[in-house]
Amino acid sequence: MSRNSELFDRAAKTIPGGVNSPVRAFRSVGGTPRFIQRAKGPYTWDAEGTRYIDYVGSWGPAILGHAHPEVVRAVQQAAENGLSFGAPTEAEIEIAEAIVARMPSMEQVRLVSSGTEATMSAIRLARGYTNRTRIIKFEGCYHGHADSLLVKAGSGLLTFGNPTSSGVPAEFIQHTLVLDYNDLGAVESAFQKYPDEIACVIIEPIAGNMNLVKPRPGFLEGLRELCTRYGAVLIFDEVMTGFRAGPQGVQGLTGITPDLTTLAKVIGGGMPVGAFGGRADIMAHIAPLGSVYQAGTLSGNPVAVAAGLTTLRLLGEPGFYENLTERTSQLAVGLQERARAAGLAFSADSVGGMFGIYFRDTVPTSLAEVSESDVELFRKFFHGMLERGVHFAPSAFEAGFVSGAHEATHIEETLSIAEEVFATLKS
Ligand code: PLP
Repeated sequence: MSRNSELFDRAAKTIPGGVNSPVRAFRSVGGTPRFIQRAKGPYTWDAEGTRYIDYVGSWGPAILGHAHPEVVRAVQQAAENGLSFGAPTEAEIEIAEAIVARMPSMEQVRLVSSGTEATMSAIRLARGYTNRTRIIKFEGCYHGHADSLLVKAGSGLLTFGNPTSSGVPAEFIQHTLVLDYNDLGAVESAFQKYPDEIACVIIEPIAGNMNLVKPRPGFLEGLRELCTRYGAVLIFDEVMTGFRAGPQGVQGLTGITPDLTTLAKVIGGGMPVGAFGGRADIMAHIAPLGSVYQAGTLSGNPVAVAAGLTTLRLLGEPGFYENLTERTSQLAVGLQERARAAGLAFSADSVGGMFGIYFRDTVPTSLAEVSESDVELFRKFFHGMLERGVHFAPSAFEAGFVSGAHEATHIEETLSIAEEVFATLKS
């Protein structure tokens, strides 16, 4: 039995499903997850010593590549000074200043420890600020696992949704309207039906949790306009896209300014940091200034903040995003060319350091379209790549990530391996 299998069996005895987050279990592709022993730059090594070119990137945070020496040093130094104080530190001010200086919409920011906490808190704040209860989210967007967000659309427009997890009472999601991504008309109808009841619209402004799906021209602009017109808070969940799609997130790329933004992943540089922030007049409603409660024992943890701050500083180096964008596009375009040359229905897309690959002819614009991809072919592709030392995300519904440590040669190697794998897929 392989070492990875041994570990997976052992893990399953004490950890439900053997993993601490479901997608790691390889359920949608089958097979045995690789237990990672160490990682450096663009590579991970599993428990058998096999090396992989890694496009999971810890699901987004590893934008500089794994274990960047300066980030590791910053963590070590911070740890020497104490692991957690439960009292304010100067480093928290520095990271808040760094975030506010970079993200156009954020005048103030509050740190938390995960993306889930960030979105949950931002929604509570939007509700407290507007004194309204309903929220709008979009099918296929993931905003963490807070109860009111684990919901999928019901059978018709503006009908009640259904929980996507057991343990979520119907009452907890009755205020959540789930609409199709890129369907501005549906958002307009929702506002017409509930003009004074919608507290916020929360969206991944480029979605990375149904593979990669971009907004159609005018969609985000339309959301901005409707939220302003009806007095609702527009929340951009940039947990994934923040400092990943571009140096100022999607708000920087599009020039559209949300009222609140949520961040995590990159801003922790591999350590647990999340954040939410935005207009100062809205942020003034959070405790201790206002009546919206929000707190955390490890919020602003000094070791995690040191990793995040160093990461943000290194991202500011000239040419970082140009290079990242070029490498990622080289990968996406290269995969598409090779798959099509092999006669496969395949398309790919990218933005900044994120990419999507789809076993269908055209780039999708909604969850329904993503769902039309050939999942069986993806599964074969995934395993073909993994066996040859390239680790993509183990699901056809996840985006992929390139880091600053991926050089042109890593991408070329990936592409020639993909060419070999694509040739095996055409039956
Ligand atoms: N929001 C988005 C857009 C995400 O991609 C994720 C996680 O993948 C979350 C929120 C939840 O973040 P976390 O897993 O840190 O709780």
